[in-house]
Amino acid sequence: MDPRIVIDVLVELGQREEELADLRARIARDSRQTRDRRELSHEYEDDAREANESGQQAARDFRQHDRDLHAAETLLADKRDRLVGLSDRRQHRAITEEISALERRIEQLEVAGLTALAAAESSDAEADQARSDARRVDDEAPVVDAAAKQQSADLAVELEQEISRLTGMLPPDAGRHVQRLRQRGDRAVAWVNEGTCTGCFAQMPAQHGIAAAKGRQLVRCASCARFVVHRPWR
Ligand SMILES: [Zn+2]
Repeated sequence: MDPRIVIDVLVELGQREEELADLRARIARDSRQTRDRRELSHEYEDDAREANESGQQAARDFRQHDRDLHAAETLLADKRDRLVGLSDRRQHRAITEEISALERRIEQLEVAGLTALAAAESSDAEADQARSDARRVDDEAPVVDAAAKQQSADLAVELEQEISRLTGMLPPDAGRHVQRLRQRGDRAVAWVNEGTCTGCFAQMPAQHGIAAAKGRQLVRCASCARFVVHRPWR
């Protein structure tokens, strides 16, 4: 078999291998991106849920402080009423002390109520932000849909079949060598670039580099065992 024909077949085989490697890299990248985006979106949703829960807790705290405040104010009004016209000095002093204590308590409850209200508002704002972040991540780049995924998988199968067909066109020993390399998960064909095998970046003997570049002779890399051929001329 004319080595130039063998080389032509190997060049084509190398192209299909390159396309298949690119395709697989793209499939891996897409699925990684989809996974990363989904995780990020879930994190934002968790944040939103947490903020929502602390917002609800703060709102409950606020309502409790408000009820306590009203109770204390009612009690204070009652004590003040009892003070009117009270002549017993000991009782008067006792009630006055109770009134001071109630006034302090009311002040504390007012501060606590305002703090809870501010916490509820900031938690609500946080929850809104996290929800909109989750939506933004979901909308950002379209997730690779099932149809596109299937299309890539089909294309990979087609390329595999094409590689098998081309392998079958090679002389038996070259075909077996291609199969052995590919079974190891390696590419069987590497391009020559300025006397170097681009499969393993080993420098080849000068005459091999030239023969491979000109397509004159079937060359195998001494270092990685791949067939080394010129890139497609077309
Ligand atoms: Zn090599």
